Amino acid sequence: MIHSHGLRYQYPGGPLLAFADVAVPQGGVLLVSGPSGCGKSTWLALVAALMAPTAGTLVVAEQPLAALRGASADAWRARSIGFLPQALHLSAALSVQRNLALAQWAAGQAQDDGAIARALQALGVAELAQRRPAQLSGGQAQRVALARAVLMRPRVILADEPTASLDDEAAAAAVTLLLHTAQAQGATLAIATHDARVATLLAPQLPSQTSLQALRLLRSSL
Ligand code: ADP
Ligand code: MG
Repeated sequence: MIHSHGLRYQYPGGPLLAFADVAVPQGGVLLVSGPSGCGKSTWLALVAALMAPTAGTLVVAEQPLAALRGASADAWRARSIGFLPQALHLSAALSVQRNLALAQWAAGQAQDDGAIARALQALGVAELAQRRPAQLSGGQAQRVALARAVLMRPRVILADEPTASLDDEAAAAAVTLLLHTAQAQGATLAIATHDARVATLLAPQLPSQTSLQALRLLRSSL
C-alpha cells in the first residue's frame, strides 16, 4: 500500500513540486504519468524514503516514513521496496548471480543461492547467472534488474520509465513482466512513465479485482 497526503518536495533552488494524494491498496497498481521534468522520479524517491518530503506524509507498506531515519530507512528500503531504476545500476564487474547476492547483503541477509536461482528462474534468465552485465541484451539486463528488485519479496515495486527506449514489442513485454511479477508476489506496483503506451498496455491485462489508479503530474510552473 501507498498512502500519501499533502506531499511536496523542493530541491534547493528548484521549483516546488506538489503531488496529489494517493491511496493505493496492497496489491494495487498506480500509474504515475506526466511530461518530463514534472516530478515522477522525485515522487518515486520520496516513496522509497530516499529523501524526506518538504511537506506532507507518506505511509508505505504500513510504515509511516517520517518515523524512519538514516540506517533504519536503508534497512526498511532494502526489505520493503523493489526499485527498478531507469538506469539499471547493475555492477559491471560482477556476474548476474553476484549482483543478486549483493542485494541480499545490502538487506542484511545471508547469501541464499536458492532464492537467487528462483528469482532468476521466475524472470526467465536462470541461464544467464554467470554472465557479466555487459554480456546481456537490454531486455535481459532489465529482467536481471527486476529479479534483483524483487529478490527480497518487497511489498512495493517501483519502476522508473521501464519502457524508455524500447520498441512496441519490448515495451509490451516489460509491462507484462512487471505486472505479472507484482501480482505473483502480491506486491503493490507503481510505474512512473511519460510513455503513453504504458496505460494502454496495462489496462487490458489487469485482473478485474486489481485496483488501478493514476497520479497525473503536471509540468511544474518553474
Ligand atoms: P521526471 O522524473 O518527471 O522527469 P524529476 O522528478 O526527475 O522529473 O524532476 C522534477 C523537477 O525537479 C525537474 O524540474 C528537475 O529539473 C528537478 N530536479 C530533479 N532532480 C534534481 C536535483 N537533484 N536537484 C535539483 N533539481 C532537480
Ligand atoms: Mg524521471
